[in-house]
Amino acid sequence: MKKIIVPLIGLLVIMVGVALVRTARFTSRQIQVPAAKAITLDRHKMAERLSHAIQHKTISDPVPNSTAAAVFKRFHTFLANSFPLVHGHLAKEIVGEDSLLFTWKGRDNTLKPILLMGHMDVVPADPQTENDWTYPPFSGRIADGYIWGRGTMDDKVTVLGILEAAEYLLANGFKPRRTLYFAFGHDEEVGGSNGAAKIAALLQRRNIDLDCVLDEGGNILDGIIPDTTAPVALIGIAEKGYVSLELTVESPGGHASTPPDHTAIGILSSAIANLERSPFPARLSAPLRQMFAFIGPEMPWPNKFALANLWLFEPWIRRQFAQSPLTNAAIRTTQAATVFHAGVKENVLPASAAAIVNVRILPGDTVNGVIEHAHRVIDNDQVKISPLEIRVEPSKISDPQSAAFQRLHRAIKEAAPGIIVAPASLVAATDSRHYAPLSQNIFRFLPITLRPEDARRFHGLNERISISDYERCVRFFVQLMRDSDS
Ligand SMILES: [Zn+2]
Repeated sequence: MKKIIVPLIGLLVIMVGVALVRTARFTSRQIQVPAAKAITLDRHKMAERLSHAIQHKTISDPVPNSTAAAVFKRFHTFLANSFPLVHGHLAKEIVGEDSLLFTWKGRDNTLKPILLMGHMDVVPADPQTENDWTYPPFSGRIADGYIWGRGTMDDKVTVLGILEAAEYLLANGFKPRRTLYFAFGHDEEVGGSNGAAKIAALLQRRNIDLDCVLDEGGNILDGIIPDTTAPVALIGIAEKGYVSLELTVESPGGHASTPPDHTAIGILSSAIANLERSPFPARLSAPLRQMFAFIGPEMPWPNKFALANLWLFEPWIRRQFAQSPLTNAAIRTTQAATVFHAGVKENVLPASAAAIVNVRILPGDTVNGVIEHAHRVIDNDQVKISPLEIRVEPSKISDPQSAAFQRLHRAIKEAAPGIIVAPASLVAATDSRHYAPLSQNIFRFLPITLRPEDARRFHGLNERISISDYERCVRFFVQLMRDSDS
């Protein structure tokens, strides 16, 4: 007995010792930044300009048409009238019909340029709930300390915020050392193939090598990540891939009074049930581990101890994350049956059944791996599996140790002192993927504050931004443009 117990206790002591040493070495990655020089922004004028921008119904249409084009032309005119210095000093190009590319030439052409991006288009307001908005979705109402309407969070806030920052800096005589590009798409919500894709192709033809790209994506989460003492700014260093699989079953059909054992509907249903029974395995991806490395040291002791010792606690963390759809999406490739078509009449056997399963692919998995997984799990030749046209591999992972990430980290701290900054992976797709060939450093972040109830406002009811939050966005872009000199 003693022969077993003594080595066991020894092993336990070593494990506890290793865990404690790892926790002691698990130190803060937050940079300390002196408070930025105070700047005076006219928050009321800025709110009014954003409000006007919201009133332009720049809804993107999958099929380009003259009505939508006219709306975007009027929006361009509004921008030109609102930001005269930007339009006077920067080169403006119209790309892919209605997207805009501004070039602010730097003084030092040995430095690689930075590209800041946003999109001018918005999704429509759902007609079924349009009357439930506190203020109409395209009214741009300024009330209760907020600017209300479609585009205040996604993503006119970015477009106007960048232009406000540049206008302010121009008025104060700033000339960037490094060239800055502002790229504003007009069709992000319908795939970005005419806007961001064409701007990226144009820059590629010009052999532009970008220091970094910043797009929308992560935000400042307040009261959402458990056991954090301060709001957390999440910078997207990666995003999931995307593919939809169409599953089809053909069968002879006929009269429902003499059915086979399994109809097309039954076969297809069991294929989907098999997929749901066999989710992709959970794992802590590289970006998630990076997030833990940044957030963990800022947490109270038990959390810090667990996150410093993933070698011991990983299975427990995976189980915790699997419990809610939001966190579950961060630890695995997810699959969701979203469409099902079959049958025409109650007494007729369906001659065919079709369904679509939408899959979001975790960095580390691939589109081909997803298709193989579906074949293996469904394991039935009667079910035809074909991927739909849009197939996006997960993005590459940008380096949170890079100078470009540090610059973002610094600008966030300058605009929002006391906030925790951390890298993260996005579960949704952004237009930034089109710029992948142009830079190693692609980041996704916009400093708007989200509280637990706010995530639903994206593409949903009562989209809004507080005036002070908007002011902070502009401050962030001012700092980022100034810091780009370093
Ligand atoms: Zn967006």
